[in-house]
Amino acid sequence: MSVLVTGGAGYIGSHMVWRLLDAGENVVVIDRLSTGFDWAVPAEVELVVGDIGDPELVGKVPRERGVSAVFHFAGSIVVPESVTDPLGYYLNNTVKSRALLEACVDAGVPHFIFSSTAAVYGTPETADPVAEDAALRPESPYGTSKLMTETMLRDTAAAHPLNYACLRYFNVAGADPAGRTGQSTPDATHLIKVATQAALSKRPYMQVFGTDYPTPDGTCIRDYIHVTDLVDAHYLALEHLRATGENLTANCGYGHGHSVLEVVDVVKRVSGSEFEVRMADRRAGDAVSIVANSDRIRERLGWKPHYDDLEKIVTHALNWEDALSRRNT
Ligand code: UDP
Repeated sequence: MSVLVTGGAGYIGSHMVWRLLDAGENVVVIDRLSTGFDWAVPAEVELVVGDIGDPELVGKVPRERGVSAVFHFAGSIVVPESVTDPLGYYLNNTVKSRALLEACVDAGVPHFIFSSTAAVYGTPETADPVAEDAALRPESPYGTSKLMTETMLRDTAAAHPLNYACLRYFNVAGADPAGRTGQSTPDATHLIKVATQAALSKRPYMQVFGTDYPTPDGTCIRDYIHVTDLVDAHYLALEHLRATGENLTANCGYGHGHSVLEVVDVVKRVSGSEFEVRMADRRAGDAVSIVANSDRIRERLGWKPHYDDLEKIVTHALNWEDALSRRNT
């Protein structure tokens, strides 16, 4: 039997692939290589290059490879891009997830683990950490496209012998501490990636989007989670589904946040680089502050993070960014 990872050549997917190999699982990846890289997939793993929206391909792989679980990471993830291209986001994140889900039902795949997002909540009413039963009011097509897939999963699991975990990610950052993979997309827009690129002079400056938010320093607050802790949570979710068959929707975050300016300070301190930071207008679709209540994942899965430390996250991200420079030259 094997485990299918969609988007396994991408940032989070490639960390998941290594986590599964470390656990002794057989892994197959489907990735269309739009933002991922074939070299990010370890040599011992079969990479099927193709689109998860292709019914023929997703109809074939689960049957032919004896897939017993799917980790579904393939999708589009840039909030402001989803505001300008909503139909592209509904296609990639919702319509194509539906095709994959149908193929899983047809092939009798029992377990499905979905890469969801804190963006399903929008801006919470209070500054308290947000729990899974909070109101779901996405503020961007990205968040809505993911919420629609959560809903499809819930309804599909009620009608078919398939169970699922929806893991709602807060802000995923960092890289494999052993240096085997990391965030490799050069035009990724996420804060820690951009700041590490600025620190290593891969971009002339970085921008801070919005300095007049109602937060202590005026910049947005996010709960940054190390990618290694995130993929550990996914593996625990798979073990939970295998052992209990109980569906689970859970936040993946640490339960405390950092402002954009705090992140920039840590990147400057850890890298020793005084890169230029320009204050800029707010970015479309950004929630002011969002921090996870992580009680459920800790209690239900026994998840214990090992890298709940912004300096470690930044150090690993910088190490990977530096290794990428050597790869590119
Ligand atoms: N951000 C920023 N400059 C950048 C990238 C991001 O100021 O170059 C801010 C962004 O506006 C948000 C926070 O950093 O307030 C986190 O953004 P990111 O894109 O990393 O993740 P998101 O919260 O959108 O998933």
